[in-house]
Amino acid sequence: MAEVPPDIPTDVPTAARVYDVMLNGKDNFAVDRQVAEASLKIMPELRDIALHNRAMLHRVVRYLAAEEGITQFLDLGSGLPTVRNTHEVAQEIDPAARVVYVDIDPIVLAHGRAILADNPNTTVVTADIREPGALLQRPEVRRLLDFSKPVCVMLCGILHHLADDEGPGEIVKTLRESVPSGSYFFITNFTRLGDAPESVELEKQLLEQLGTGRVRTPAELAAFFDGLEILPPGLVPLPLWRPDEPVVDASTIDVRFMTGGVGRKP
Ligand code: SAM
Repeated sequence: MAEVPPDIPTDVPTAARVYDVMLNGKDNFAVDRQVAEASLKIMPELRDIALHNRAMLHRVVRYLAAEEGITQFLDLGSGLPTVRNTHEVAQEIDPAARVVYVDIDPIVLAHGRAILADNPNTTVVTADIREPGALLQRPEVRRLLDFSKPVCVMLCGILHHLADDEGPGEIVKTLRESVPSGSYFFITNFTRLGDAPESVELEKQLLEQLGTGRVRTPAELAAFFDGLEILPPGLVPLPLWRPDEPVVDASTIDVRFMTGGVGRKP
């Protein structure tokens, strides 16, 4: 991996870097690989699940930019820059599209800065979404995003890192109230599968080793969309959201373990 900034702890695993392992990235350390390997033992499909999550992100950004004319994206819990990021997909459709990446892990800024150095319409901010009000007031966010115009707020694979007592529903509500009508919310989350005991086991292991990882029921996910009009096809296993190719077998765990959807603020 590139030079490690001195403020990056290398002896504690982080969600961004464990996810980077799943996506076959290079920006991770031995502690992150240990957590990823332990998780893959419980659920070997996790690699494919991460790829499905990225693929849905690409389809959602492309759809909103191309079909709904969305030009502003607030990508919360964006993770380490990886293959085809939000700004690449959006700016392919509209080079003037603006993208703000936000992540709590400073390694995301360290790597994002270099990649985005010559892209004036994209920035990376280190911030905690558990303080959404403060985050929305950050000058770097305000410089690029105009909150009098519709924004796509992306909460892709991040709310499952927040425990219920950290108020994920309240965070989504604050964000919803802060953006204008015609804005979109894109949310994906780990899903509790009644017929797959490994989903419970995985949650336990992630909480023990990473200190984070909450697997939610479809009803709990639906609650995040309160006050929004959910776009067809609804809240569905990720590969089933407007797929480019028909999904041959939707019964497998890799397809069903994450659920997501897109909602529009009326
Ligand atoms: N959004 C990307 C995707 O779906 O491909 C990356 C998802 S990754 C699984 C989750 C990211 O959320 C990590 O990079 C982690 O650092 C970030 N994260 C977790 N808790 C956060 C918080 N409270 N505030 C901001 N970012 C957070």
